[in-house]
Amino acid sequence: MNKLGCHVSMSAPDYLLGSLAMAQSQDANCFMIYTGSPQSIARQPIDKLKVKELHEALKQNHIPIEDVIVHAPYIINCANSEAKKRNFAKVFLAQEVDRVNKIGAKYLVLHPGSNPDKELGCKYIAEAINYVNKNNNHVVICLETMAGKGNEIGSKFEELKSIIKQVENKNLVGVCLDTCHISDSGYDIKDPSATLKVFDDIIGLKYLKVLHINDSLNEKGAHKDRHANIGEGKIGLKTLKEWVNYPMVSKICKILETPWTVDGPIYKKEIHMLLGK
Ligand SMILES: [Zn+2]
Repeated sequence: MNKLGCHVSMSAPDYLLGSLAMAQSQDANCFMIYTGSPQSIARQPIDKLKVKELHEALKQNHIPIEDVIVHAPYIINCANSEAKKRNFAKVFLAQEVDRVNKIGAKYLVLHPGSNPDKELGCKYIAEAINYVNKNNNHVVICLETMAGKGNEIGSKFEELKSIIKQVENKNLVGVCLDTCHISDSGYDIKDPSATLKVFDDIIGLKYLKVLHINDSLNEKGAHKDRHANIGEGKIGLKTLKEWVNYPMVSKICKILETPWTVDGPIYKKEIHMLLGK
């Protein structure tokens, strides 16, 4: 079955069970959550999140726990040039990995970070991952491809490769490819096989663990990172449909992070459009 889902909320009172219910209401067979607000580091204690109940419900619905993706908050910058802030990010990332481990999920998507010195930034990010992995043997940190706003690291496949090269345990590092971000960063994504060939030559396809499927409000190379609803941006439905239905990525979770309308998310409609239903 082609794995296609969406970002869902996780909030009181049902927490993870509510996330699953929301995913199912959108006809998603995989989903992505934040363990709290993406802009904050405040987190609920894990025993409130209904982890056991989630596992039971997933089992009933034949959804493997690996298809529940977690996204780390945006505010942690493991590449920060200030040692104190970098250290804070590293410690928070370790706590987040511990939470993901307790949830039982496998993939944690991480925005690599920012630093005007890309090479140094890549080294700092790898250091943070190596630190986290001293107490981690399960969670795969998936470095996200970025649009290249400001000093963001990860808008070039070479930067992600440089980080992966410096990570000691290669089994615990991967990549999350975002269609909006790589188009914004300047990659031609019209033909998934050609783009994935470039990805394979530089990073290696075995590292591709998650895809974010988003349209973009901006033209290729704009470095903006503004997601658009499927078919309403500059990438367009035809190209995104090709990505979603590309056989090589059928078993990889593909997650929509498209804007909500005034009436809420329209993932269900978008999922049906992408699958051609
Ligand atoms: Zn992201």
